[in-house]
Amino acid sequence: MVNTKSRPFHGILLYRQNYREHDMLVKFFTAEAGIKMFFVRGLNRPKSKLAADLIPFSFGTYEGELKEQGLSYISTGDNVSHFQQISEDIMLNAYATYLMTLLDAALPDNFPNKPWFDKLFYALNLINNGFDAEIITNIIEVQLLTVFGVAPDFKYCAACHLQKDRYDYSEKFNGLICEDDYHLDKYRMHLDQKTIYYLRLFSIVNLTKIEKINVNQATKNKLRQVLDKIYDSSVGLNLKSKKFLDQMNKWELNR
Ligand SMILES: [Zn+2]
Repeated sequence: MVNTKSRPFHGILLYRQNYREHDMLVKFFTAEAGIKMFFVRGLNRPKSKLAADLIPFSFGTYEGELKEQGLSYISTGDNVSHFQQISEDIMLNAYATYLMTLLDAALPDNFPNKPWFDKLFYALNLINNGFDAEIITNIIEVQLLTVFGVAPDFKYCAACHLQKDRYDYSEKFNGLICEDDYHLDKYRMHLDQKTIYYLRLFSIVNLTKIEKINVNQATKNKLRQVLDKIYDSSVGLNLKSKKFLDQMNKWELNR
């Protein structure tokens, strides 16, 4: 019997979790209907027809029933690929997993959001193709701040609303403050101008047009620190994937 409600959709697999003995819940970011949870019967059985199309880091065209609320269903995978490099490299794996859980935390389920679907797709593609995963992650983190309701003004001074030459980041003003207004926040972050430059660049950079960004490790460390600080105090997530990523980076450093 043909399921008339079934239709094709584009999806990026975000994560999977076991459900009962043989079934699984699979979360997708779909281009057509936003982030959705799918129930896949028998996915844990050895002969599941969908197994190859629903391995971690899969993306492509699927067919299924997209419910407005509750669990959706997948009937087939039509044209499915995998981010091969990401799935084979534990570091890239950690970055990609963090990005996907971050988007899942930022965006509500069941709301179409094609711009962020595209951004996630390009971000994963760039990471898969060897582009610096740390930088791609920072770009997504900076651009997601407005989605989280933290809207740092990376263009103008958040205190006097003018464009100046030198800035610092102020949590009090939720954004950049100019040199003339440093006295308004004695707890400003005291960032160097290079770090500020990249924060401003990342807030406007278009992932589809990126060719090369070379950032030295010292600046990358500072970007990591400032973004952690902003996320900890203004967003307040507690993602396991982020803790894992931090742990991985520590191991890398001590190796
Ligand atoms: Zn100012």
